[in-house]
Amino acid sequence: MTEKPTEKSTEKPTEKSNDKLLLHVCCGPCSIYPLELLNLRFKTTCYFYNPNIYPESEYRRRFETMKIYADYAGIKLEYNKAGDDFNDFIFAISENKAKRCEICYMIRLDMTAQKAAIEGYDYYSTTLLYSIYMDHQKVKSIGESLGELHGVDFYYSDFREGWRKGVEVSKEMGMYRQNYCGCIYSLEDRTERLKMKEQKKSETGGR
Ligand code: SF4
Repeated sequence: MTEKPTEKSTEKPTEKSNDKLLLHVCCGPCSIYPLELLNLRFKTTCYFYNPNIYPESEYRRRFETMKIYADYAGIKLEYNKAGDDFNDFIFAISENKAKRCEICYMIRLDMTAQKAAIEGYDYYSTTLLYSIYMDHQKVKSIGESLGELHGVDFYYSDFREGWRKGVEVSKEMGMYRQNYCGCIYSLEDRTERLKMKEQKKSETGGR
């Protein structure tokens, strides 16, 4: 194994090594830039674990998009063949809606860290570090804590630096790009916002 990067580092990995990294992936578009960067150094495997996504048709759509991209990029994609724990997820966040995003990060990263530790990966990481809509520092600290708990290093990099590039490539490739975060609450929020927008439009006569 080559020398490990410091966890606080945002340096880009440039030297190819034999280190294995398990990357939690939330969707295809968010995976483009992190994979481009990580493949410079690691033997990366993707892991799609997202019981937050609602409804199931949306889950399938995001999974299929990820699968097509992983095939295109020649990256191994793993997923929970028994199905993701949708009911457990809803139960967990309905108990504490105010902290739902934190719980959501924990659920997804906990499963990924456990898998990485059991299967002997050197590192694990997540595409949640790419999204400009997530609480970046929270994702980072949860990732590091769960890495310590399960005995696998969390690889931190500020993937948001490649946000624009990822958006451009996903559009060029005609990838499905979702318009809400994932859970039922984020879908309801979006529907509500659209409704209010329409209402405002009709009140002002479209001005
Ligand atoms: S808004 Fe997004 S991060 Fe927050 S709980 Fe819902 S799916 Fe998870």
